[in-house]
Amino acid sequence: MATRHSAAGARARRSTFLPFSPPSITEAEVEAVVDTLRSDWITTGPKTRRFEQAFADYLGAESALGLNSCTAGLHLALATLEIGPGDEVITTPMTFCSSVNVIEHVRATPVLADIDPHTLTLDPARVAEAITPRTKAIMPVHYAGHPADMAPILEMAREHGLYVIEDAAHALPAAYEGQMVGAIGDFTAFSFYATKNLTTAEGGMLTGSPEHIERARVLGLHGMNRDAWKRYTAEGSWYYEVVAPGFKYNMTDIQAAIGLVQLERLEAMQARRRQVVEQYQAAFSQLEALEVPAERANVDHAWHLYVLRLNLDRLKVDRSRFIEELKEWNIGTSVHFIPIHLHPYYAEKYGWQPEDFPVAYHEYQRVLSLPLNASLSDEDVQDVIRAVVDVAENAS
Ligand SMILES: *Cc1c(COP(=O)(O)O)cnc(C)c1O
Repeated sequence: MATRHSAAGARARRSTFLPFSPPSITEAEVEAVVDTLRSDWITTGPKTRRFEQAFADYLGAESALGLNSCTAGLHLALATLEIGPGDEVITTPMTFCSSVNVIEHVRATPVLADIDPHTLTLDPARVAEAITPRTKAIMPVHYAGHPADMAPILEMAREHGLYVIEDAAHALPAAYEGQMVGAIGDFTAFSFYATKNLTTAEGGMLTGSPEHIERARVLGLHGMNRDAWKRYTAEGSWYYEVVAPGFKYNMTDIQAAIGLVQLERLEAMQARRRQVVEQYQAAFSQLEALEVPAERANVDHAWHLYVLRLNLDRLKVDRSRFIEELKEWNIGTSVHFIPIHLHPYYAEKYGWQPEDFPVAYHEYQRVLSLPLNASLSDEDVQDVIRAVVDVAENAS
């Protein structure tokens, strides 16, 4: 039995390692960068403006601000809304650290609310319990690209006079009940980090109302009341005023040049992601040892991540061993995320115990993310499926 498996495995195993999430870059992006470098404007300028406008148009957002990261966008959103000491912001433990780090940056207090066990996004019932007179904002994270349950979140925000700041690092393009993410809350922050659905290597975009975005634009560029690039154009002047101790968060035209091409390619890249997801869903939903990601009829999933869950009571191995065995099959994986309350800084500062957010804690122990990107070939997808099925069956 063991011999048969290893012989079959040796034959089927990939000869090269399949990376978890390589960027999808074509000659068009390369040419756009070279073009920008040969122009006389390389930092924030006309291409950034064009990218902001195209991005806002694509989502149906009122206004957009190009930035050097999503983290910068979340920080600027909090700073623009003057959220600070004594204020509380409710968010999820199932996120990347930067969602919560920015709350610390403005000296406000992060309050975690546990997640829904099916979608792994904020559970509105837990958010309701977390609201206090000090709550100023709710920060949903559209985990893996599945929009959080926005209707009850927006309802609670209205009722209690709270802002809604969305971490949409995974959610381009996604929609909740027909409305694109980016055109829903007060502020929405997107990431163009190297692994995200649209990349500019590093970069981000913040969407919101024109008033909010213009305030964020000033704060995001040193608190200067003029755009630096306009100062050096013919109609511009040398004069500016610093109206706040702002940050240096602007996007460059080199990033925007990549972003404009990537935005053109986004629908095609998404179509490929969906094809891969269909094949994964069909293959893995057959196996009792595995739980496939939730799909909901009222949302359009951005499929940034394909998060498989292990039914540990049906397996002889834990998640770490499962990942190690996939690595032996030359398949790269990742884990999203180590919950916020388990990280030493947060556990110590707020006295959080693993079981304080039991759903996030338990789901964390059985999640793993499989390769899902626009560069996967049909053969790559079959290699992933074969490896996962083999590892799951052998461990069942
Ligand atoms: C990637 C990511 C971020 C940070 O994005 P940057 O552009 O790298 O700042 C924030 N939140 C989540 C959920 C992410 O996955």
